[in-house]
Amino acid sequence: MSDTRHTGAEPMHAGEVWLVGAGPGDPDLLTRKAANLLAQAEIVFYDALVTPEILALAPQAEHVAVGKRKGRHSYTQAAINECLAEAAQRGMRVVRLKGGDPSIFGRSGEEIDHLRAHNIAVHIVPGITAASACAAAAGVSLTRRGIAQRVQFVTAHDRNAVMPDLDWRALADPRASTIVYMGRSAATALAAGLQAAGASASLPVMAVENASTPDQRIFAATLASLATTTGALSGPVTLLIGNAFAVADPARATRMLATAD
Ligand code: SAH
Repeated sequence: MSDTRHTGAEPMHAGEVWLVGAGPGDPDLLTRKAANLLAQAEIVFYDALVTPEILALAPQAEHVAVGKRKGRHSYTQAAINECLAEAAQRGMRVVRLKGGDPSIFGRSGEEIDHLRAHNIAVHIVPGITAASACAAAAGVSLTRRGIAQRVQFVTAHDRNAVMPDLDWRALADPRASTIVYMGRSAATALAAGLQAAGASASLPVMAVENASTPDQRIFAATLASLATTTGALSGPVTLLIGNAFAVADPARATRMLATAD
C-alpha cells in the first residue's frame, strides 16, 4: 500500500502567483496548504476581511493591504492586477490572499485573466466560503432533504453599489436556499423584491455577521422582519434565506435574537 501521508509543503516558485482562500476569519479554518504557502511567500497582497492572525502566518513576507471596503476603494481592481503582475515579474513568490474562497465574489477571474495574459503562472487554493461558515455558525444545513434541493449564491451589491439585476423568480423558489453575500445594505430591497416575486413574508432568514470570529452574531428573522434585523449590523453579513433555515428550537432563536443589541 502506498504511503498517502501528507509529506509537507507545496514548493512555491519564484515568479508565481497563488490566489489563496483565507476562509471566514478563524485561523483554524484555513487549509494547511494555505498556511504552507503563507510561510513561503515573499509578498502577500490581502483583502480587507483577512484577519491579522492569518497574516501573522507570513511574518517573513511583505504585507500589502489592497482591500476594498464598501465606499472606500484603496486600490482599483486594475491596480491590484498590475501589482500582482509586477511582483511576479520581479521574481517574487506572490500570495494573493482573499477572504473565504477566492472563486466566490472575489474578482479572481479578472486577476487570473490579467496574469495569464502576461504569461505568469497562477494557482488557486480553495477556502471555506462565507456560506459554509455561516451555516456552521448558525447550526443549520444549506441543503435539506425534501425542503431545500438547490443552493444559490448571489450578491446584492455590484461594483457601482447598486442592486444588480437579480432573477427574482429563482430567488423566491421555496425549495431553494438563497445565500446572499454583501447583502446588509440591500436587505430592505431584497425582502421587498422576494415578496413581490411570490415569497412568503414568513420565509425564514438568518443573518450571520462576522462568522467564525470572536465578534460573530447570529440573528433569526423572516423576510418581514429582515430590514429591522440587519439595521443594527455593521460587519460583514451573509443572509441565509429559505425554508431550510426555520429555527426548530424556539429557545435557541430567542437566545440568538437577544444578542441583537
Ligand atoms: N470570497 C468570499 C466572499 C467575498 S464578498 C467568500 O468566499 O466568503 C464579501 C462578503 O462575504 C461579505 O460582505 C459577507 O457577505 C461575506 N462574508 C465574508 N466573511 C464573512 C464572515 N466571516 N461572516 C459573514 N459573512 C462573511
